[in-house]
Amino acid sequence: RFITLEGGEGAGKSTQLRALAAALRVRGLDVVETREPGGSEGAEAIRSLLLTGGADRWSARAEALLFAAARADHVEKTIRPALARGAWVLSDRFLDSSRAYQGQGELSDADIVTLHRIGSEGFLPDRTLFLTLPEGEAEARARVRDGDISDRIGGRDQNFHRAVADAFARFARDEPARFHAIDASGEADAVTDRLLDALADLLP
Ligand code: C5P
Repeated sequence: RFITLEGGEGAGKSTQLRALAAALRVRGLDVVETREPGGSEGAEAIRSLLLTGGADRWSARAEALLFAAARADHVEKTIRPALARGAWVLSDRFLDSSRAYQGQGELSDADIVTLHRIGSEGFLPDRTLFLTLPEGEAEARARVRDGDISDRIGGRDQNFHRAVADAFARFARDEPARFHAIDASGEADAVTDRLLDALADLLP
């Protein structure tokens, strides 16, 4: 199975991905943990191009193409081979992050999906877990982690992050079978239990 975790900065995706992977391994599953941008040698090289050099390094279109190229390599080199040998793959971000972030630029949601069709044959997760937090709480957590409201691409303001959160909420409404919103507030263990519940129908 291919499972993705999505959400804004400070929602606890990385911590929860580790905890979820551990819980699935206890159930006897072979689990691969990966992330986007990155997750394969080529995609990690693209990641460093994307996350350094400041907000003005790439135009909105170039940024969207780089994310799509990184994802194409990640799908081909890491995700598909792992699924083919029967592993579960958990990815910290995937296509929906591009729809939410790169979809705020000049490109429409349909454009981002088209790039994904070209790059990765439209390959989709079996389930996407969207971690939600009240706006103030996510910011506070991101600040604790990074010393400031974290935006590693940079130059984005609160309105941008609000629009990203709205886009994720829209995906949850539009694709309820795949895209599940999960309350990420409270104790980490309780959040992990909610994530496992949201996968219950997929577990062997
Ligand atoms: O929170 P995380 O560590 O996953 O974030 C990596 C950076 O890349 C963040 O600044 C996030 O906003 C950005 N990002 C993006 N578009 C994506 C995926 C991540 O702008 N498709």
